[in-house]
Amino acid sequence: MSMSKHMAEDLATFMDGVERRNPGEPEFHQAVHEVAMDIIPYIADKPIYKELKILERMTEPDRIVSFRVVWQDDNGDIRVNRGYRVQQNNAIGPYKGGIRFHPTVTQSVLKFLAFEQVFKNSLTGLPMGGGKGGADFNPKGKSDLEVMRFCQAFMTELAKHIGPDTDVPAGDIGVGAREVGYMFGQYKRLVNRFEGVLTGKALEFGGSRIRTEATGYGAVYMMQDMLSHHGETIDGKVCVVSGSGNVATYCAEKLIQLGAKVVTLSDSSGFVHDPEGFTQEKLNWVMDLKNKRRGRIEEYTREFGGSYHEGQEPWGVPCDLAFPCATQNEIDGEEARTLIKNGCRGISEGANMPTTPEAIKVIQDHPGLLHAPSKAANAGGVAVSGLEMSQNSLRLQWSREEVDERLRGIIRGIHDQCVEFGTTAEGHVDYFRGANIAGFNKVASAMLAYGVM
Ligand code: NAP
Repeated sequence: MSMSKHMAEDLATFMDGVERRNPGEPEFHQAVHEVAMDIIPYIADKPIYKELKILERMTEPDRIVSFRVVWQDDNGDIRVNRGYRVQQNNAIGPYKGGIRFHPTVTQSVLKFLAFEQVFKNSLTGLPMGGGKGGADFNPKGKSDLEVMRFCQAFMTELAKHIGPDTDVPAGDIGVGAREVGYMFGQYKRLVNRFEGVLTGKALEFGGSRIRTEATGYGAVYMMQDMLSHHGETIDGKVCVVSGSGNVATYCAEKLIQLGAKVVTLSDSSGFVHDPEGFTQEKLNWVMDLKNKRRGRIEEYTREFGGSYHEGQEPWGVPCDLAFPCATQNEIDGEEARTLIKNGCRGISEGANMPTTPEAIKVIQDHPGLLHAPSKAANAGGVAVSGLEMSQNSLRLQWSREEVDERLRGIIRGIHDQCVEFGTTAEGHVDYFRGANIAGFNKVASAMLAYGVM
């Protein structure tokens, strides 16, 4: 499906409208453009979607709530942050998507994440709409009690807008088990009901087995499926992973279990290169460093050797497979060229939108490089969140094996949809196009069924 002049004009007109209605929101424009590039040619011969302005409606969030979060730090000083919840689209289920606490959080970032979440959740096959939330709060360097007071203040307002059949948030950058615990406790206290309003909960109070691992594992399962579709396996492959948080560490864990050699991890200050490869023991140490001691990745080299590269990203380290698992726009055009030059065979996006538009273009010009977009590759996290919601409704907890098997099946289903909708005339699979079209179809059909609203 190449883009004709007419379609290119339609895309430009559509994007002009999006940019005019959403000024100063570059991340949101980028996420919409990434989808519209595939959907506008796809609906060119389906006038009903165009006439009923489905894509225009999908880019307008159902609502955005923005609120003041006031809390007191350990010195007794009053702090003021801004919290948000973007409820993007609930055509196929309650809003669902994580909460991010990071100083770089803006409405634009959360709108990009919420928009992408709609397609991702649709791809899982589970009944979940899309949303995202967060605050410009920086958990780094804060005491446990400060984080608790912030989470309680944040939830005091958010609780008015969420519920198990309305909107079910989860974790994201800066929001892990500790923060979910504080927020769930406050919600429960406010509404006086024990209900599955957040996912990513600890096992003791309604969490699902494999939820912590799911996003990282899923990114690896997606790579496994892409390679196997092309007659290859992960075993023996050299892998570069960025980040050292939840997604990165469990991505590395699954790679090691499957016989790959993981040689890097990073944080926002730099990356470590361990040419010997990370082992499970070394990874356990990193998880403890990050989750309990809240330390920096550079400490790794003092314990295990290897080298630390301050202020750099790991994409220059030669690899067979790359797993960006830190944050948005972490691979630019130049870095994509470096990966290709070094013979990289596949990229699976653990983070959301980690490749810039230029990088995507560079990669698309090299169809030999398999590239799974975040909405497909990291859908494992929200998929197991969906399974956590099911378990909460059933008041049951499934075994590790059962959840992992369901996760494996969901990722396989996503891969199949990418192949179905993304196989090009030349016979290679455009995973971006496949994921965009498959994610769009289900939501668009539901919106059509509801009539004009
Ligand atoms: P996390 O546990 O907070 O870890 C984030 C990691 O990325 C940390 O190593 C962090 O380093 C690094 N990082 C964050 N911001 C950065 C920046 N601006 N530049 C460079 N490095 C940065 O978060 P996570 O849950 O693993 O999330 C990572 C990515 O996966 C995000 O894109 C998120 O949206 C996506 N994702 C997560 C889930 C999930 O289930 N958790 C699901 C789907 C997608 P510092 O410690 O230095 O900040």
